[in-house]
Amino acid sequence: MIILLYLLRIKYILDSNKDKKLYIDILIISFMDESEEWFEVIKLKDHLYIIRERLDEVEPRFLTKFTNIYLIIGTNKALLIDTGTGLYPLKPIIKKMIGAKELLVINTHSHFDHRGGNEEFEDIYIHESELGNASMIFDISFLKDSPKTRVQLFERRNFRYNPPHTLHPLKDGHEFDLGELTVKVIHTPGHSVGSISLLTNQKELFTGDSAHFGAMYLPKKRKFPTMLSSLSILLDLFQESDDIEIYPSHEDFQVKKVLLESLIKGINDIETIWDTKVKDKYLQAWVLNDGNFTYII
Ligand SMILES: [Zn+2]
Repeated sequence: MIILLYLLRIKYILDSNKDKKLYIDILIISFMDESEEWFEVIKLKDHLYIIRERLDEVEPRFLTKFTNIYLIIGTNKALLIDTGTGLYPLKPIIKKMIGAKELLVINTHSHFDHRGGNEEFEDIYIHESELGNASMIFDISFLKDSPKTRVQLFERRNFRYNPPHTLHPLKDGHEFDLGELTVKVIHTPGHSVGSISLLTNQKELFTGDSAHFGAMYLPKKRKFPTMLSSLSILLDLFQESDDIEIYPSHEDFQVKKVLLESLIKGINDIETIWDTKVKDKYLQAWVLNDGNFTYII
């Protein structure tokens, strides 16, 4: 259907004698598939790409605009951090970028917006405490009533995620050697029990959903100490070198340590804005805002 539409457009352009360049542009677009139109790929460095997905175009009621998927390419292997919602195939895009290099895939945690594409890939790594979650069939029929009708594409997967071929458990401190690039696993529980962050030897810190601007999904108050201790572990990394760049799994990327500082302060001060909380019926949670972050608890 898309191809037919483009053919009609090309015919219209030829009929109306528009210039050649426009004709070529349309031809190029017609060769882009649905995945290439859906994902936004940005080359950040020779070894680092970000692949962005619009979560608000899947379900706006999660109050999140972007999900950030990252691809790190070493001289021997490549490492994909998260697989998005799986609405459109991710693997063909990654294959184009890494060629014949071996690919490792890590989930920062097992929530649906980070593991949806898992079944496209062979080997998935996840923290040992979320191995059980990630190895089960996951029902995503909660997306069926999204105001964004494109979610009906999940029908082709029966609104469920199947587990990946092979799941490997990760522990804190595990190190991946990609060839001239190493990536270290840091267990940062709080957002979820097995949330991990990743630090490269190029001073790039991937924080998953443990720290990002926008809508932060926090655990219940009694688990704030766990979240705060994880954030302190991440902030302590800056004592070694102050110029670490932070790459979160949602919203802004390549941010500075002020993200961690303001999030720690925000969580510590949450009592001061507790009276302003509003119940979100869809999320079944409290929503608060302190000017820096929206907190969902
Ligand atoms: Zn998320």
